Formats: sequence, structure tokens, C-alpha cells
Amino acid sequence: MADELNASRVPESRCPSCFKLGDAATEIRNQLVQPQPGDFSICWNCGALLRFDADLTTVLAADMSELTDEQRREVERAQASIRGRRSPGASNGR
Ligand SMILES: [Zn+2]
Repeated sequence: MADELNASRVPESRCPSCFKLGDAATEIRNQLVQPQPGDFSICWNCGALLRFDADLTTVLAADMSELTDEQRREVERAQASIRGRRSPGASNGR
């Protein structure tokens, strides 16, 4: 787990939704990209839509209105696969 492919190191921060600690980010198309403040992110544990704050910690994203339709579809696809993997059939907290 120490050297995941194409993961960028970011400051440790907890997912505001599930409180899982994370310190790496993987770009949605698996390209090596260093996250920038304001970039969207998805929690690898719960699938919450997040954004990088000015110090690159993650905060909950208010909504997806700034995303293009294509980006929105990618987010939804990623969330579906994360949530399907973690807890099949369960949808707590929505
Ligand atoms: Zn989470």
C-alpha cells in the first residue's frame, strides 16, 4: 500500500463525511496530478464528494454545479463503484 500507482501525497486530513484519514490522492483518470486548491476529490472510503482547501486538506464539496456533465458522470461512476465495493446494497446516511 505504501507505493500506490499514480497517487500524489497530500497533507493528512480526515474525510469530513466518514472521518477516514487519508494522505494520498489519485486522479480520477489515474493520471499523476498534484491536487490544487479547489480541485474536486472523492473519498476512497465513502465516496463523498470533496474539494481540496487552500492547504490541500479536504472539505465537503457543496454541490456539483461547477462540474461539467462529463465530470459529473465520472464522479457518479466512481461513487457507485466505491459504494458498491464497500457495502453492497447498503446506503446509510443518505
Ligand atoms: Zn469518506
